[in-house]
Amino acid sequence: MLKKLTQFYHPTTIEEACKLLAKPKTAVIAGGTAEALRKDDSVEALVDITHIKELSHLEQDASTIKIGATTTIQEIYKSDKLKGLSGNFLKQVAGTVAATALRNTITAGGNLAAQLWWSDLPVAYLILDAEVVCRLGKPKRTVSVVQIINDTPAKFLKKGEIISEIQVPCFGDNTGCDFRKQIKTHHDYPTITAASRITLKNGMISEARIACNAVTPFPFRCQEAEKFLVGKKPSAENIEKAAEKAANSFKYREDFRASKEYRQEVFQVMVRRSLEASIEAAKK
Ligand SMILES: Cc1cc2nc3c(=O)[nH]c(=O)nc-3n(C[C@H](O)[C@H](O)[C@H](O)COP(=O)(O)OP(=O)(O)OC[C@H]3O[C@@H](n4cnc5c(N)ncnc54)[C@H](O)[C@@H]3O)c2cc1C
Repeated sequence: MLKKLTQFYHPTTIEEACKLLAKPKTAVIAGGTAEALRKDDSVEALVDITHIKELSHLEQDASTIKIGATTTIQEIYKSDKLKGLSGNFLKQVAGTVAATALRNTITAGGNLAAQLWWSDLPVAYLILDAEVVCRLGKPKRTVSVVQIINDTPAKFLKKGEIISEIQVPCFGDNTGCDFRKQIKTHHDYPTITAASRITLKNGMISEARIACNAVTPFPFRCQEAEKFLVGKKPSAENIEKAAEKAANSFKYREDFRASKEYRQEVFQVMVRRSLEASIEAAKK
C-alpha cells in the first residue's frame, strides 16, 4: 500500500515522464489496476502516463501492428484497425481479459509490465514474436518480448525507463494461431493458459511457438518443444511428443484452484489441442 504517497504527476510528454521517474521513490502508473499489488511501500510519488498522447495509439500496416503503451485492452478488443491473422488473434485474446470495465482501464504496457501469472496478452506477444520499445527520455531501445519477460520487466527496465510501444509482426499464409484458457468462471483467474503458433512449408513445420501462463509464475515459452517440432511432419505422433515435452519443461505453480499434478496432466492435453488447431488453421 502507498502509505507514503504525497505526489501525483500527470506529464504530457515521454521526456517529462522519464525525468520525473528518474527521481528516487517514484513509480509509474497507467491503468492503476495492479496498484493494490505493489509491494514497494517506499513510493512517495506516482507518475501517471495516461495523459501522454504519443503513448496512446493502435496502428497496423502491411508488416507490423504498433500498440502504444497506454492503449487499453478494450481498444485492442474492439479495434477495426486490427486485421489478418495477428490482428484478429490479438483481438480474440484481448476479449478474454477480465470484464469490460477493467478492459477499459487496463493498458497494454501495464499488462506487460505487471507480469502476473494470469496475464493474457503477454502470452499472445510471446507466440507472435513481438518486440517492445522502451524509452528513457529521447533514447530508445527495442528488445524482443521474450527477453523482457525472461528478465522480468521490473529488472529489465532502467530507473526512469518506460515501455512505450509493443510491435507485433503480421503473420500471413500457411500460419495458424490458437489461444485457450482453462477458467472456472468467466471472471476468475485461469488455472491454465496455453497458446501456440505453427507455420507450415511444403507440408512440414517450419516455425513453432508454444507459450503458457498460470501453470507458471509468469508467461513462459516452451522452447525445447518448439525446437522439437521444427522440420517435422505435423503428424499426431509429433504433436503428442511436443505436448509432452512442453508439459515437462518447467516447474508448476499451484493454488487452491488446482494441484500441480492436475495442471500438468491437463496442460499437456491443452497444448496438444492447441497445436492441432494451429496446424488446421495453417493448412487453410
Ligand atoms: C479483478 C481483476 C481481474 C483481472 N483479470 C485479468 C485477466 O484475466 N487477464 C489479464 O491479462 N489481466 C487481468 N487483470 C489485469 C492485471 O491483473 C493487471 O492489473 C493489469 O495488467 C495492469 O495494467 P495497468 O495498465 O492497470 O497497470 P498499472 O496497474 O498502472 O501498473 C502495473 C505495473 O506496471 C508498471 N507499468 C505500467 N505501465 C508501464 C509502462 N508503460 N512502462 C513500464 N512500467 C509500467 C507500473 O509501475 C506497475 O508496477 C485483472 C485485474 C483485475 C483487478
